[in-house]
Amino acid sequence: MFGGIEAGGTKFVCVIGTGPAAIVATKRIEVADPARTISATRNFFIEALDEGMQLDAIGIGSFGPVELRHGHPRYGYITTTPKAGWSGTDMVGPFASGLGVPIEFDTDVNAAALAEGRWGAARGLRSFIYLTLGTGVGGGAVVDGRLVHGLGHPEMGHISVQRRAGDVFAGVCPFHGDCFEGMASGTAVAARFGRPAEALEGADRDAAISIIAFYLAVGVRSLVYALAPERIVVGGGLSAMPGLAAAARAELVIQLAGYPGLPEHGEPAFLEPAALGNMAGPLGTLILAEQAATSAVPR
Ligand code: ZN
Repeated sequence: MFGGIEAGGTKFVCVIGTGPAAIVATKRIEVADPARTISATRNFFIEALDEGMQLDAIGIGSFGPVELRHGHPRYGYITTTPKAGWSGTDMVGPFASGLGVPIEFDTDVNAAALAEGRWGAARGLRSFIYLTLGTGVGGGAVVDGRLVHGLGHPEMGHISVQRRAGDVFAGVCPFHGDCFEGMASGTAVAARFGRPAEALEGADRDAAISIIAFYLAVGVRSLVYALAPERIVVGGGLSAMPGLAAAARAELVIQLAGYPGLPEHGEPAFLEPAALGNMAGPLGTLILAEQAATSAVPR
């Protein structure tokens, strides 16, 4: 039995179970300051253990940026987030010291990528990308069966995107202004239209979908050329906007301009909506836990 924590910017989702059909407990915790949020999260697992539940390991998929290098003095920490009060938060230590089980730690989008690969829209693929279009934009890449890790972790929301002709929006990224996230995130849509995406109607909604589809395709073009994914799975709140997937696929064909000429890039299955919805992240943390439980290196 595994525990998982999807640590998002607005809520933490805790799960206990082994997979989509075997979740035995869940809890949503609204994010407050780090101390209170982590304490409430830890209490959920302490209560489960007190009730006699056996936990073999816990996986944590966190918003970032985070330090993922095992052995680094800041391993398990959120590093330089713009989220007020959370920079320098130890996300692993409080659970490692309090619960006595192995822990694996990764980004929320990497966790979601693992889940979509095992149970969702990327099942059976060796190389794919999970992108989330929500309040922010982020992505996790699986290449030849393994998550891409390195110095830091991929920050796909912050790649540069070419501006759409006539688009004078400054962008909302606090670091880069008009990066992918700065131009096409939920935060960007709200800044462009004065209302959140889910409140848009009619011509405004059509315009928002057109803008998001354009920047999604431009961002995907860079990812296609850099990582050669077999599929790109798109989740997050904005991904459910009606017509977005079709518009993005059509724009991607334009953006690729016939290069390298692989017909698969134009097929509907190449740019595919996520199958697990908002459970991709929490389910992925169970896979992280499984990795912690089976790792040859103590976690
Ligand atoms: Zn940025």
